[in-house]
Amino acid sequence: MTNYKKLIIAVDLSEDSAPVADRAQGLAADSGAELHLIHVIEPLSFAYGGDIPMDFSGIQDEIHQQAAQQLTRFGEQYGIPPERQHIVLGRPEVEIHSKAEEIGADLIVVGSHGRYGLALLMGSTANGVLHGASCDVLAVRVGACKTKS
Ligand code: AMP
Repeated sequence: MTNYKKLIIAVDLSEDSAPVADRAQGLAADSGAELHLIHVIEPLSFAYGGDIPMDFSGIQDEIHQQAAQQLTRFGEQYGIPPERQHIVLGRPEVEIHSKAEEIGADLIVVGSHGRYGLALLMGSTANGVLHGASCDVLAVRVGACKTKS
């Protein structure tokens, strides 16, 4: 198998992020790959912009600052330096693709929840990342697996 050279780990900063990063770190240790982290913040205006006539910039800045602090701590735990920690505003799947291409990643690592039905194999973000990715995507199973009753 070809060794990966540059991995990008997509983290939503929930408790699911650690198993995803653990798996990526294990792969990177085996292959000597460089690790990057990305967290995407969805603008509040995407959800509420059209409906509520309000200036979201203060809240958005606060969300950005808190996410940046959390990402810094997370990156430190995995020895990923600040220049390889990316925090961007937009739609997760779009920004993850875009950053992966920008840095020349050859593997995107995402978490995937066990779900039934159409979402059985992948959560919505993982599914979105897989479709249209220009490099390999590794979906790491996270959370409780749901089984058919
Ligand atoms: P979901 O489909 O929302 O359950 O998320 C599954 C996985 O997608 C997470 O474990 C992350 O790897 C990735 N992900 C979800 N939201 C974000 C986000 N805002 N920024 C970066 N990655 C994300």
